[in-house]
Amino acid sequence: MPTSTETTVLRGGEWLLQSTDADAVFTPERLTDEHRLIAQTAQEFVEAEVLPKLDQLEQKDWALARELVKRGGELGLLGVDVPEAYGGVGLDKVTSLVVSEKMARSASFGATFGAHANLTIVPLMLFGSEAQKQKYLPKLLSGELIGAYGLSESGSGSDALGARTKATRQADGSFLLNGEKMWITNGGFADLFVIFAKVDGDQFTALLVERGWGVKSGKEEHKMGLHGSSTTALIFQDVKVPAENVLSDVGKGHKVAFNVLNFARFKLGAMCSGGAHGAIAESAKYAATRRQFGQPIASFGAIKHKIGEMVVRTYAIESLLYRTAGLVDARIAATPHDANDGSAALAAFEEYNVEASIAKVAGSEALNYVLDENIQIHGGNGYVRDYPAERHYRDARVNRIFEGTNEINRLLIPGMLIRRAVKGELGLIPAAKALQDELLGPPSMPSTDDGVLADERRAIEAFRKTTLMTFGLAMQTYGQKLTDEQEVLMHLADITIELFSAESATLRAIAASEQKSPRAALHQDAARVFVNDAAMRIEASARQALGAMVDGDTLRTMLAALRRVMKVTPINTVAARRRLADATVERGGYPLA
Ligand SMILES: Cc1cc2nc3c(=O)[nH]c(=O)nc-3n(C[C@H](O)[C@H](O)[C@H](O)COP(=O)(O)OP(=O)(O)OC[C@H]3O[C@@H](n4cnc5c(N)ncnc54)[C@H](O)[C@@H]3O)c2cc1C
Repeated sequence: MPTSTETTVLRGGEWLLQSTDADAVFTPERLTDEHRLIAQTAQEFVEAEVLPKLDQLEQKDWALARELVKRGGELGLLGVDVPEAYGGVGLDKVTSLVVSEKMARSASFGATFGAHANLTIVPLMLFGSEAQKQKYLPKLLSGELIGAYGLSESGSGSDALGARTKATRQADGSFLLNGEKMWITNGGFADLFVIFAKVDGDQFTALLVERGWGVKSGKEEHKMGLHGSSTTALIFQDVKVPAENVLSDVGKGHKVAFNVLNFARFKLGAMCSGGAHGAIAESAKYAATRRQFGQPIASFGAIKHKIGEMVVRTYAIESLLYRTAGLVDARIAATPHDANDGSAALAAFEEYNVEASIAKVAGSEALNYVLDENIQIHGGNGYVRDYPAERHYRDARVNRIFEGTNEINRLLIPGMLIRRAVKGELGLIPAAKALQDELLGPPSMPSTDDGVLADERRAIEAFRKTTLMTFGLAMQTYGQKLTDEQEVLMHLADITIELFSAESATLRAIAASEQKSPRAALHQDAARVFVNDAAMRIEASARQALGAMVDGDTLRTMLAALRRVMKVTPINTVAARRRLADATVERGGYPLA
């Protein structure tokens, strides 16, 4: 059985080219007792200590927020990514994933926790000098110091490297920091900031800046949601930063920013999965007790469809998240490294940056779907504040905006894959050519495999071919100019996300069958529905992309090839969603945990 430290491991994006065995992927069903224990610790902390105080946090009681971060520190939740030598608990990335999932039950505190643990502790761990780590990590890990991450500015959000904050070098090697950051989580009360500024005009650089040196906070933003997390501007007027507080090197700020985002996007995906679990439980319980026309609303097909689909989408993101965490852990384990330095983790997250962007986009969009349907199932009660559904809906909207908007992440997904292909690191170009030859030749006999989810595995091969075909045509049609064709890139991203999600869900369901899970049939229902619908979504995106790229006979030939590849027979999704919904209502929550 694979563990999260398996050694034979696909490289980042390689699933685009080849299939994987179900026993080679990490799934939630393969969590160890240690993982489950820390998940339980995080869940109990949130349920017992955070959720009851949410209203107080929403009144901007930042002393309470600080106390709760401290409490997280006492429980070891802040130091999951930090080796024991620096006061952390040094656990694997599957552990980071389960902690993030549980933290999401309180989205506001999750944001506070994330800005502190993922955006301050992680960059310090990965890029800090020994002296910086010794100075700041213990206090951050105990929650004595609270961290924040200042990258965005009013004029540069997505275009983060366009920052105008300046760090002017002084004769003694120190810097004078001037400028303003916007929308900074924990901005109202953090003590230590990772700030990005241009040194001497153009060298984008990360600096560790203490509040006591003169950092001023703007007023709290009036946000749509996350009212229990602080979001402010930060103002720097001649703030003196000592030379030794450069994080990494002068001019290397982009490396810090982008690598931290790879981690953070993955963890944001995990938070979305955790948020979806909570909402599914709310819907299940409400649907079981709310009666209309003399029956619980859970008995209506329209409601069963919603609950079933909430489960299906959550299953898919969960499957791809655990698969990615397993890949990252396996890559770290296979890389010789000193346990006290973060270089192997850094390299692993750089390698799986496409998967991290997919986790962010797919996770935030699945969560939005789930929370929207959660409101709908609650009817009028979903629209008023007496029920938590309304708060979740507002809180979650920002997930599609921060950590790189979903548009930026969608551009990155094909962009990073194509860059690797052009460098010869990913065999995308030869695979697309081989597929072209195959499609011009006589049809091959379909496989006669009739094992578990054999039709779905065949469908996934079709998805893979469609993805390769669309990538191949896009690269051929536009060459270097493909970056100007954002609409086509968005379609490529969507197809790629569907492929990775569908394959991850199917492999997990097969693994559940092989493990003789008592819920194996439900796993199969979730995977089958996802694959069924992914086929329609992929085909629609591919048709739009092809229509934009070619016309006339070429378009007709490409569409014929698409039809030949995408032969996916519909299943009875109504029956499958009903089974999933009934199991969810019976359990009072997500049935596949
Ligand atoms: C609650 C909250 C907390 C936050 N916390 C932090 C934090 O702790 N630290 C921090 O540094 N920042 C933080 N942010 C800022 C956040 O990261 C930015 O808002 C985000 O990166 C988007 O930048 P922007 O708002 O300037 O939007 P813009 O970049 O102006 O984007 C506007 C729209 O244009 C699109 N767009 C932009 N560029 C392109 C392009 N090249 N191609 C296609 N479409 C494009 C975007 O996708 C978006 O739809 C936070 C924001 C919020 C709301």
